[in-house]
Amino acid sequence: MYLVGAGPGDPGLLTARALELIARADVILYDRLIPDAALAGARPGAELVFVGKQGGGGSVPQEQTEALMVQRAQAGAQVVRLKGGDPFVFGRGGEEALALRTAGIEYEIVPGVTAGVAALAYAGIPVTHRGLSSAVALITGHEESAKQSALDWRALARFPGTLVFYMGMRRLEQIVAALLSAGRPGSEPAAVVQAGTLPEQRVVTGILQTIHEQARAQDIRPPAVAVVGPVAALAEQLSWLPPRALAGRTVAVTRARAQASALARRLEALGARVVQAPAIRVVSLAGPPLDPSAYDLVCVTSANGVVGLFERLAAGGRDARALAGARVAAIGAGTAAALAERGISADVVPERAVAEGLAQALAQVPVRRALIARARSARDVLPDVLRERGAEVDVLELYETVAEPLADAVLESARSADYITFTSASSVRFFLQAADHRAGLSRSTRIVSIGPITSAALREHGLEPHVEASRHDLDGLLEALLADAGAG
Ligand code: SAH
Repeated sequence: MYLVGAGPGDPGLLTARALELIARADVILYDRLIPDAALAGARPGAELVFVGKQGGGGSVPQEQTEALMVQRAQAGAQVVRLKGGDPFVFGRGGEEALALRTAGIEYEIVPGVTAGVAALAYAGIPVTHRGLSSAVALITGHEESAKQSALDWRALARFPGTLVFYMGMRRLEQIVAALLSAGRPGSEPAAVVQAGTLPEQRVVTGILQTIHEQARAQDIRPPAVAVVGPVAALAEQLSWLPPRALAGRTVAVTRARAQASALARRLEALGARVVQAPAIRVVSLAGPPLDPSAYDLVCVTSANGVVGLFERLAAGGRDARALAGARVAAIGAGTAAALAERGISADVVPERAVAEGLAQALAQVPVRRALIARARSARDVLPDVLRERGAEVDVLELYETVAEPLADAVLESARSADYITFTSASSVRFFLQAADHRAGLSRSTRIVSIGPITSAALREHGLEPHVEASRHDLDGLLEALLADAGAG
């Protein structure tokens, strides 16, 4: 049994030992503040159990978590108990270790990078500094009331060094009041760091007297640490995270969940908070094995199409070699990349990633018999153009997009995001179907469309896109969104 710290959020701050144990674990019991990337390294068959607090709601009782740990470990599983930051810093790791000892289970403790030190470091605040602070106190702000608190506020007020408060956001005002009335000077530098080390990190600096008001004005929320002490003022000189173009902005992504992650990750790296609102899901359609030998042209219109195409080839015992005799054309850089992953370098990839673009790019290419691999109920532009040119055309429908139900809370966040992105006509239709009942989008939300077909679908629903990508792929979409954010 392993009690493992997962660090404060940036996956780069997971320790080598943590990664190794996560990769080997049979069972991982994890908390709310665990970086997603930490679980990404788990074995495909591993049992992942969430035992943390559900946003605002109740949490899994501590005894239940401990009982589960003991039970899985006794059953012979390799169990990792994964906790945010360091397991022994306000992590109840000590209690869990005691429960294991009582049950006679051997354990290893893997320390982690604790948020109180790391979030401050990412804000350019060293917890100690020669001449400014020779001691640090890590303090829990989560106490029932300042009066009956276990904390000695007079001692904290006199403490000759840096005070770091964990779990103090909901009670920041009381903490400030308690320190001030115990004699800590109101002019002392102070800061609050929200979501430290994560893409959405935010920092507020000021002085003790008013730091709670500033934090409120800036809508600072948990998880956040507060720091009081002269070192807080160093943030001004030492902050080092480059300002990110989308910091503080919320961007909703409506693509199917399976495809959303690349876009979401890039948005997050730019500092955006991403709301995943997958309005559609891709379902592959069953069909007979494919023998493409009769075709001299094979067109694929999306990365999903590539997946489906290779499934149909594999169903007949075939692989990429079966396409050797045909020209392969792809719409969009993502489609070309999906082909490249399977060893096919597309012969034709049009500049404009729409069917009209491909039809144009194929104008000089002789075609006798073409296969068009695509979604069900896609537009017929390409088959029509090729048939007009005398080619024999087979359309192979490989998948369809269906509505994915969205929780009201997700819909609400998406509707009020700063930006909402649409990457296909079907995501527009299904998203608006879900949202319409609840009165559409908020007026301040800017609508970003990947290209003309998606924009047309928006207009059909009475929505004018504010931004349309001029290159109709993810790079183009991000570029257009960034240009708009920079201008705004
Ligand atoms: N064991 C953890 C602390 C758990 S208590 C550790 O060592 O870091 C949870 C508190 O940690 C939160 O209320 C918040 O004060 C702090 N915290 C966790 N992650 C944080 C982050 N990324 N940025 C700022 N504070 C964070």
